[in-house]
Amino acid sequence: MSNILDCAIIGGGPAGLTAGLYTTRGGLENVTMFEKGMPGGQITNSSEIENYPGVTGDISGMDLMMPWPEQCQKFGLKHSMVNITRVSKDGDIFTILQEDGETTEAHSVIIGTGSRPRRVGFAGEDEFFGRGVSTCATCDGFFYKGKEVVVIGGGDTALEEAFYLAKICAKVYLVHRREEFRAAPNTVARLKSTENIELVLNSVPDEVYGDKMGVTGLRVKNNDGSTRDIEVPGVFTFVGNDINNQTLIQEDGSFLCDVNESGAVIVDISMKTSVAGLYATGDMRIAAPKQVVSAAGDGAVAALQVISFVDELLN
Ligand code: FAD
Ligand code: NAP
Repeated sequence: MSNILDCAIIGGGPAGLTAGLYTTRGGLENVTMFEKGMPGGQITNSSEIENYPGVTGDISGMDLMMPWPEQCQKFGLKHSMVNITRVSKDGDIFTILQEDGETTEAHSVIIGTGSRPRRVGFAGEDEFFGRGVSTCATCDGFFYKGKEVVVIGGGDTALEEAFYLAKICAKVYLVHRREEFRAAPNTVARLKSTENIELVLNSVPDEVYGDKMGVTGLRVKNNDGSTRDIEVPGVFTFVGNDINNQTLIQEDGSFLCDVNESGAVIVDISMKTSVAGLYATGDMRIAAPKQVVSAAGDGAVAALQVISFVDELLN
């Protein structure tokens, strides 16, 4: 077998794992998925998923993703648990640079590195991160069983995580900077009928404070200039995500392929980027619906393209 991979997959979320399944099952023998942590992606932080087709039970994101790596490995996908720092291309060959300095060459690349939670930007957020400030209800919600917590944000993630926390905690204060919500209408309707969620609208977090043990409260500033102290030991922030596109940045600071003003990778409907042999999938591409099902779909589309691309390149 050649030392040059048929395909390097960067990222092991729903997009990368599906790309791994389709490339290997479609006949490519030399495919490695580079994932810096456990495969599964950001959905493994979600306490419930009810919109993945065919799934009718009460399951978490972790439950959903658990069997995916095994399914891919059955068809020969290799998994390398490393952080990739750069993908570059010279002639027809891509070079995948790892954090430890090692490199791997590949004929094609499917990238699906997703996005990451954005910080809100209030005083004390970084200081108390991991000591009362969290971006993961599934991970940290249990610590606040029977207590009161704050959730910040007005999108689908904030509301869904507020529901999860409302089942564990005595009360959830949902702090949102506007009157209207970005989340889906049926989710907003459910929010308004959940008894132990208090809406704190037209308010932004000003400062989280506490002591050596952790957070003791959050001060919010209302749009009318007044402030309010909410005494809670836990503050959960869900204010959106930034694109993980760092691996595409070249030594001279330019991007390997075209990206838009938000850093999302520009692709066509086949997930082709502006660079031949490079495909971008899932949450990191333009106009991504940011759903597990669409990320998985992107992975399948890109993989089918890669199979033809590699075949034409080598035969
Ligand atoms: P990701 O899932 O983000 O996976 C990217 C992977 O790449 C990660 O595993 C990461 O570790 C890896 N990676 C990143 N950089 C590197 C690197 N340099 N080197 C190596 N590996 C790297 N969608 C739904 O359909 N239904 C829901 O109910 C739902 N609920 C959600 C709840 C929450 C709390 C969140 C945050 C999201 C939710 N979503 C939901 C959205 C869904 O999780 C995403 O759309 C989906 O996970 C995107 O998949 P992806 O493969 O593009 O990226
Ligand atoms: P999002 O939709 O971008 O919502 C972010 C929320 O945070 C918005 O309400 C925003 O307020 C608020 N916000 C942003 N910056 C802020 C700041 N500095 N201070 C205070 N508030 C701030 O992000 P998301 O909820 O993480 O969702 C991301 C994507 O995943 C979306 O496309 C979503 O539909 C999808 N998703 C889907 C599901 C599902 O289908 N079940 C579940 C989770 C996520 P404004 O509204 O005022 O801008």
